[in-house]
Amino acid sequence: MKVLKFGGTSVGSAARIKDVANLVCDGEQKIVVLSAMSGTTNSLVEISDYFYKNNMSGALEKINMLEQKYFSTIDELFSTEKYKLECTEIIKSHFEYIRSFSKSVFTVFEEKAILAQGELLSTAMFHLYMLENEKSSALLPALEFMRIDKNAEPDTAYIAEHLAKYVEENACADILITQGYICRNFYGEIDNLQRGGSDYTASLIGAAINAAEIQIWTDIDGMHNNDPRIVEGTQPVRMLHFEEAAELAYFGAKILHPTCILPAKLNNIPVRLLNTIEPKAPGTLISNQIVKGKIEAVAAKDNITSIKIKSGRMLLAHGFLRKVFEIFESYRTPIDMVTTSEVGVSVTIDNTKHLDEIVNDLKKFGTVTVDSDMVIICVVGDMPYENVGFQAEVVNALKDIPVRMISYGGSNYNISFLIKAEDKNKALNALSKNLF
Ligand code: ADP
Ligand code: ASP
Ligand code: MG
Repeated sequence: MKVLKFGGTSVGSAARIKDVANLVCDGEQKIVVLSAMSGTTNSLVEISDYFYKNNMSGALEKINMLEQKYFSTIDELFSTEKYKLECTEIIKSHFEYIRSFSKSVFTVFEEKAILAQGELLSTAMFHLYMLENEKSSALLPALEFMRIDKNAEPDTAYIAEHLAKYVEENACADILITQGYICRNFYGEIDNLQRGGSDYTASLIGAAINAAEIQIWTDIDGMHNNDPRIVEGTQPVRMLHFEEAAELAYFGAKILHPTCILPAKLNNIPVRLLNTIEPKAPGTLISNQIVKGKIEAVAAKDNITSIKIKSGRMLLAHGFLRKVFEIFESYRTPIDMVTTSEVGVSVTIDNTKHLDEIVNDLKKFGTVTVDSDMVIICVVGDMPYENVGFQAEVVNALKDIPVRMISYGGSNYNISFLIKAEDKNKALNALSKNLF
């Protein structure tokens, strides 16, 4: 069985929802994971923000606006009064639930419950549309089988066991619809897999049922070789290795959520990126096959801070790096890039929540310099060190740009550069011009 995930724009209007319904009905049983309609999760974040600020009239105004959007969508979506009425009642109940938070204390728990409403709405509407059109389908409640553990990692055993039950119960239905993004946590509370996490839902489900393929349907024809929002004339990459795709997703290629490759890779399930607007386009196939010796794509990760620790005492001192890394570990702050020399070490982080404490602790070991507003530019492809020339090609493309750090050798699949945020667009364009 395949798992197909449709993102926000793919279900962003009545017309798009109808397209998805046509696209999935091909006689084969499949699991269809849906995001919230585009803009909905952002609106729910905004509504929560009003609740946090105790601005009830602001919250209610935004809630009413969002609800209206749903009413006009279903007006166009359904052709019979029966289903329109049924869906109206469902929408009303979700929005009444959201409004009910105006009467309670508002914390992160209430926010997560509100954020879950987008996917609950889109899947309920889609299911009713399928029923209206007499297409065989069932709605699987993600909140009953998607679960994260105490460390916010997916509880894969729980997911597999509980999902199997729902799949079995609905064996006669062709299209098994479920919500992306939302889950319950270790304590049974409503939680989520972080923004953009519907991709992760799809790959976790794919792994749980040992799917034949995981398809991520979005608004572009696959992974492009550079960020299409910044560089003109980017081209789709037809094939990527799991490792290459993971690097690109982690280092900023928004088309994929960074965590979504791992479950597919571990279970060797191919992932295909496809375009809802152009379903016949080949898209990108991500698998364990590599195109030998090819630089495939470039991506950029924003909001990076670099920290340099310079110490005379590092000379021949074992244990220096351990002490430095332990400080980041103690503040649960992941490091992305590392470069070393005999007198010091530079690292980058993207979570600056504990930056002040980290810098304070690092000062015990040397002189500390912090650069904020930096960007990691990541060049991805099959680049084993025996292949000569590729480093020169990449460095040459960046010859007019000040580079703060360079990292290669952690894997054969990536060379990373740290540059100033203000140079990002220039760097991405220069790399496309020189490499592709
Ligand atoms: P969805 O709502 O379907 O999850 P996203 O907005 O999360 O869609 O991801 C698709 C968007 O990712 C595209 O519209 C595109 O602008 C952006 N994007 C950024 N980098 C890339 C890339 N390298 N290849 C393709 N799309 C990219
Ligand atoms: N709806 C969620 C978001 O906007 C999850 C997703 O779209 O993947 O972040
Ligand atoms: Mg997305």
